[in-house]
Amino acid sequence: MSRTVEPFFPANGETVKMYFCGPTVYSEAHIGNMRAYLLSDLLRRTIKLAGYGVDSVMNITDVGHLVGDGDDGEDKLQVKAAAEQTTAWDIAEKYTELFFVDTDLLNIWRPDTVLRATDAIQEQIDLVQVLEAKGVTYATDDGIYFDTAKIGDYGKLTPNDTREDIDGGHRIDLGGKRNATDFALWKFSPADAKRDMEWESPWGIGFPGWHIECSAMAMKVLGETLDIHVGGIDHVPIHHTNEIAQSETATGVEFSRFWVHGAFLTLADGDKMSKSSGGPGLLTVRQLADQGFDPLDFRYWVLTGHYRSEIAFSLDNLQAAATARERMVRRVRALVEAVDGDLPDVADDPTYVEFCEAMADDLNSPRAIGALWSRLRDESADAAATLAVVAAVDQVLGFKLVELAEAAGGDVPPEVVALADERVAKRAEKDFAASDALRDQIKDLGYEVLDGPDGYTLEKI
Ligand code: AMP
Ligand code: ZN
Repeated sequence: MSRTVEPFFPANGETVKMYFCGPTVYSEAHIGNMRAYLLSDLLRRTIKLAGYGVDSVMNITDVGHLVGDGDDGEDKLQVKAAAEQTTAWDIAEKYTELFFVDTDLLNIWRPDTVLRATDAIQEQIDLVQVLEAKGVTYATDDGIYFDTAKIGDYGKLTPNDTREDIDGGHRIDLGGKRNATDFALWKFSPADAKRDMEWESPWGIGFPGWHIECSAMAMKVLGETLDIHVGGIDHVPIHHTNEIAQSETATGVEFSRFWVHGAFLTLADGDKMSKSSGGPGLLTVRQLADQGFDPLDFRYWVLTGHYRSEIAFSLDNLQAAATARERMVRRVRALVEAVDGDLPDVADDPTYVEFCEAMADDLNSPRAIGALWSRLRDESADAAATLAVVAAVDQVLGFKLVELAEAAGGDVPPEVVALADERVAKRAEKDFAASDALRDQIKDLGYEVLDGPDGYTLEKI
């Protein structure tokens, strides 16, 4: 909110209440989306490193996000359901499942609480009723709207933008709206068509607007004031601005003490990778695995950039990250082989201290990774102390360094690992013929894949 780096601590001194906007589950999440979830993961892990608890909540947008990103057009899920000749419910289930396949592959911790918008309809209706009682809503032909002119500090998350700038980002055609920035809280179902997802409400049959779900769900689980709200930078001018307007009008208290927004992952030509614009540049984590990358290569690459800087994706960049990550694992393997016995305490280790300082300084992951590399290159350092540092800092980096170095099949050839990753991708897509064929290929190379709750393991036959 202040656009500066500020000291952070949770309001209750112990546990950080953290909310992040989840995916709209009408298609597969692309690697740009994954950058946003890597940010919330990195933040969560860093807060734990600092000794606080974290109570994290993420929503799943399975209703109400309209094609126009504003208040017009059809529901994104409903459009996809028509295209795939199924229901919006099936679309939501399919893409929610695939979302978690991807986050698991990237070693992103699952949120403590995941809530679907459709599981909190009553809370959203209740919140709209509170706003109605405060006199900041009005009805049009197609829904109940928030009147942004009724509150004095609308748009305070975008302090340098004038009202006209914000208005300019909206459609000129107001429809029945009083102000360009007004937004739908509840939309009426069309009179001539039945939606897959619709509910009774005091205003008739319909469905909630996109913004109200985040306010309702965040406050349902975490209370009226959050410590940190996280999301992609595109959410600043509209989605988060509207979350603030409706939450603070309803409760009279600050909605989130801190806001953390991540910059985009762009394509080489500088274009934002975006689901709605589609295009050939759209890539998923599973597609990267199909091309022989380990999903952790992508995690490594993203973390070598600072979250507030744009990063331009290319396969060359990813390949460079893959090479570096593999070198890192090899170096850790040498440490594992050299060390026998207990690891020393890391609290005063200079590399560990530097790593923590870098992460505490607005999540400076590039500097933190640089500190780790300096230590790994230092042949004169005590192997046990270095291994202890690796284990500690990887709680934040999430590269599975010790695990990969120690794995019984630690020297499984990379092509076998690549085939196993591709098999995960095919299974997620329910392409079982391809996944069985990959299992056979892996067998021919002398390995058996065993599936477990935390993913697969490879055993030498
Ligand atoms: P969506 O599923 O479209 O609601 O987006 C999910 C999250 O991904 C949001 O936090 C967006 O801000 C974020 N996001 C979308 N595109 C990109 C991108 N190209 N780079 C980084 N984050 C993105
Ligand atoms: Zn949100």
